Amino acid sequence: MAGQDSAFGGDLDQIARIVSSYVRHHQLGPEQLVELIVTVHRALASLGQATPPMPEPRQPAVSIRQSVRPHYVVCLECGFRAKILRRHLRVQHGLSVDEYRARWNLRSDHPLIAPAYSERRAAMAKEIGLGRRRSIEPPVAPTRRRRPRRTTE
Ligand SMILES: [Zn+2]
Repeated sequence: MAGQDSAFGGDLDQIARIVSSYVRHHQLGPEQLVELIVTVHRALASLGQATPPMPEPRQPAVSIRQSVRPHYVVCLECGFRAKILRRHLRVQHGLSVDEYRARWNLRSDHPLIAPAYSERRAAMAKEIGLGRRRSIEPPVAPTRRRRPRRTTE
């Protein structure tokens, strides 16, 4: 076949050939002919686009491997460093943690809290007794119960 462009931009030769061979076998009025040309053109164009253009791969602000440091984690969207990214993601990018992980193909255990920080928090929790098992007798008068810090944030 002649006139095959590698990048298909609507090969008029090809359209003319298809249309004329069709017309040879069918009786068409001028309007129908136009319609036929449009249809063929559209069909050929959509063939050329069979593989939709790949979206530009998103470039993270830092590589995913470098986004987790002992004392901070880095936002892949903008390079922001924080001990905890969850809030930043929501406020700055309108992303939930799940959306963020999906966006960057992160594993579900990809840390969004600086490891050293979460360790320190765990240690602190242990210090104030949250990490211990409740083997001790409950206090007699539960008047001054220490409320556990809310960790939803
Ligand atoms: Zn960010």
